[in-house]
Amino acid sequence: MQMKKLFDRNDVKLWLFVAVLAMLYGFIFIFSEFYGSPFFGIKDFLVLVMQWCVVVFAAAGLLYALSLNKYLFAATFPLLTLVCTALTYFKYTLGVTLTPMIIDLTFVTDLRTSLEMFSWQLVVWLLLALVGSAGCVYVRFRYVRVHRWYVHLPLALLPIMLTNAWIPSFVAPVSARMPYSVYYNFSRYISEKRIVEEQRNTFDDDTPVCRADSLTVVYVLGESLRADHLSLNGYGRNTTPLLAGDTAVVSFGNIYTEPYYTHLCVPHILTRADSLSPERAFDEQSFITLLKKAGFHTAWIANQEQESSYLYFMNECDTLIYANVGESLYSFGKWLDGDMLPHYRAMLRRGDAKNFILLHTIGSHWWYNTHYPDSFETFVPVVKSRVVSACTQEEMINSYDNTVLYTDYIIDKLIAELRERNAVLVYLSDHGEALGEEGHYLHAGDYPPLHNPACFVYCSPRYTALHADKINTLKENRTKRFRTDFLFHTILDAADIESKYLDRSFSLFFR
Ligand SMILES: [Zn+2]
Repeated sequence: MQMKKLFDRNDVKLWLFVAVLAMLYGFIFIFSEFYGSPFFGIKDFLVLVMQWCVVVFAAAGLLYALSLNKYLFAATFPLLTLVCTALTYFKYTLGVTLTPMIIDLTFVTDLRTSLEMFSWQLVVWLLLALVGSAGCVYVRFRYVRVHRWYVHLPLALLPIMLTNAWIPSFVAPVSARMPYSVYYNFSRYISEKRIVEEQRNTFDDDTPVCRADSLTVVYVLGESLRADHLSLNGYGRNTTPLLAGDTAVVSFGNIYTEPYYTHLCVPHILTRADSLSPERAFDEQSFITLLKKAGFHTAWIANQEQESSYLYFMNECDTLIYANVGESLYSFGKWLDGDMLPHYRAMLRRGDAKNFILLHTIGSHWWYNTHYPDSFETFVPVVKSRVVSACTQEEMINSYDNTVLYTDYIIDKLIAELRERNAVLVYLSDHGEALGEEGHYLHAGDYPPLHNPACFVYCSPRYTALHADKINTLKENRTKRFRTDFLFHTILDAADIESKYLDRSFSLFFR
């Protein structure tokens, strides 16, 4: 009897309305976010279905809340539907998902490109979405009555709170997908904008001088590459045939990194942060500013999503290029470092006497298979599932080693462009990776190989001729232990720069 009083036919109609809307959203929009997800076996498939259900449940909460007031519904629902239609269209046609980078490129920096993205097909879909959502608004006005919204509001908020705050494992999948991804990505975009505009003036009191007339310095920021999986460092499998065959490549097998998450490693590596002053990673400028002041043209070629912890440094560069706009952990096509090569060559051809290029690679990032071309699938069998627990250790190592093989190929291509120049290339991965030892995978929990990233240096014949002593010292240092604190000073030292912020005792070229 109590139930009968609390809810009546009108309430049932409202629930029915919300349920139909949520299902439409689930099948039309949310499905597109899962479309193309690789899965292997029934267990994987069920995990994906469960995730889809959670995201639909979260969307239902939002649609429920919006439906409680017909005017609010009329004002917001068509808009939300138009945005989701556009995103779904781009997911199916270009394979891109919404990221702050996409927002910046389409709405702010590059109006021409965004206008080009407006095809007649998209306009047709948007018109259909408008008609469809107008129909929903009509149904809401005509057939749904809400008498006591305050009774329904807590019910609507429950799925929203559960999936966006109270159950931590739901937050990531829900925030990365429609409709919530719209909100999360715009708020991330706004907070990242603030970081870019931040005022840091670490090196204002310095006038660094570069002694070279013409010089190219390349820093390859690696991803999840552990030192002991390079045949260059004695690994049993031939994972670095090209680098190992190049006598000008000096490998450092004993590098130690304290942090092992990308967002903590990258700022540490690029700044003066060291074991005594780790906080410098978050409030100082990087060596890029000193290179600029010393007359270098600086470029950052990104093949990774930007992260608030290092976005500042990306914008420190004169030129910032995204090699793969719209790739994220939720896209499943090939995402290759080879896509950086045309940009790299273009930067070298600019004709600057002194240039610095940083390449932020995707390297050996999980999900390994997407980060090397099929022709590099040398070690088999490879992983088939995105669910780590469904993969064998053997598959994990095979897929991982294939990424190493591809990195070997990419670095060799980068070096090939430097042979005729006065040039030096430094490679340092942000951290290592666990490959199933004692049940440790990826870089989630602490494990020794995570702290030992791969590192090597290439010096061109001209550079070697000009700096014979330096190169000898470099070779003598190859077995020594270094913390990743070395990079800031090594880049400046390699660039032949005199600065009061350069402490040569950290440098790989220091005796
Ligand atoms: Zn990383």
